[in-house]
Amino acid sequence: MKISSVTLHPIAIADPPLRSSYGLHAPFALRTIVEIKSDDGITGFSETYGGDGPLGALEAMKPRLLGMNPFRLAGLFQSLTGSSSDVPGGHSQTWLVPGENPLDLHTRTFAAIEIACLDLIGKAVNQPVCEVIGGRVRDEVCFSAYLFYKHGGGGGIGSDKYDDEYGEVLDPAATVREARQMIKQYGFREIKLKGGVLEPSLEIESIRQLRQAFGEYVPLRIDPNCAWSMDTSVEVGRALQHELSHGGYLEDPCAGLDGMAEARRRLTSDGIHTPFASNVAVTSFPDVVQAAKYDSVQIVLSDPHYWGGMRQLQFLSHLCGTLGMGLSMHSNSHLGISLMAMTHVAAACPNLTYACDTHYPWQSARDEVVEGGRIKFHNGAVAIPDKPGLGISIDWDQLARGRERYEKIPYRKRDDQAEMRQHVDPNWKRVLPRW
Ligand SMILES: [Mg+2]
Repeated sequence: MKISSVTLHPIAIADPPLRSSYGLHAPFALRTIVEIKSDDGITGFSETYGGDGPLGALEAMKPRLLGMNPFRLAGLFQSLTGSSSDVPGGHSQTWLVPGENPLDLHTRTFAAIEIACLDLIGKAVNQPVCEVIGGRVRDEVCFSAYLFYKHGGGGGIGSDKYDDEYGEVLDPAATVREARQMIKQYGFREIKLKGGVLEPSLEIESIRQLRQAFGEYVPLRIDPNCAWSMDTSVEVGRALQHELSHGGYLEDPCAGLDGMAEARRRLTSDGIHTPFASNVAVTSFPDVVQAAKYDSVQIVLSDPHYWGGMRQLQFLSHLCGTLGMGLSMHSNSHLGISLMAMTHVAAACPNLTYACDTHYPWQSARDEVVEGGRIKFHNGAVAIPDKPGLGISIDWDQLARGRERYEKIPYRKRDDQAEMRQHVDPNWKRVLPRW
């Protein structure tokens, strides 16, 4: 079998004005849908980061992919990234949003190709992707309610504005309301709050009110994306020692493996053992080894989109298990193709110890490019479909609409700081640590 064509579909999808320490989400998020066809007429799809950078990197791969056997992925990975022993550590890029780190450019590009090839292979051998990569260890994958502080608005621009499902959420009471609404709709059984937006005392209060509302058996996490100093991280860790117990964690409270190691030491010396999770300080295999050595991070937040695809995530799952670390999954604004890729790989990672993140509730049915509409959740989980490949097909009209939206908007790169200045505060700057 040979790859006979590679088609890239840049699209834009509405995104509500969600806040984080990076700034504000733009009215549209950019994605790229990758379509790879074989010479015997089978087509595989994947979804990845959007805009000029990712699109250009994938475009440049076309000559290498045409004529390639889609099964032979390990050699392509090696030729793109070098052997793993050549990869330097310290990939952490505290200032960059996921998808913009130049150090994982090649693993991002490879992942988009690998996942489309695995979808194609699954269809060729009539098996779901999770079976192709070694076999599922679970039939469904649990996701968490991913709460954000947000301004009013549902995303979109001008006449193309989307309904605001959740309203403004900028205080603890509204955070609980948002959680109730999301859990009612999707059935999530774990909660993650994106922090680093309000004063730490208000974010502590948000977590306390969530605990009061949902009880001690719904695990809680908070992720301020390094907005806190080491001292503040320790203070919040102390204040929330009970609320973040029972399967919770503190995610990237402060910047860097050294800072997290020191915050962890100070908390454990107080008898507080809340685990630390990271997708900012730990973004490559050498980072995992360093994080384990210094006990900076106890849970790695994987992401097939930038860790180099599904097989690399399985290696990461194994490495985390070997080092006694937990594993969960990070996410970005995405549609159903990404959600199914995340679900398949998570189903085939034995050492997956926490419900995965997903931004899926923040996207609209109006933008879904999967035929049949939105992927269904039951009790906060997505089941592996009884179909080959990723288990989805494309709604071509919807894909064309996504392309039209992309052509209409002026930007080709995610810039949360610029959005924040334009819509909220003209003088806003990302300051780390802010508190
Ligand atoms: Mg994070």
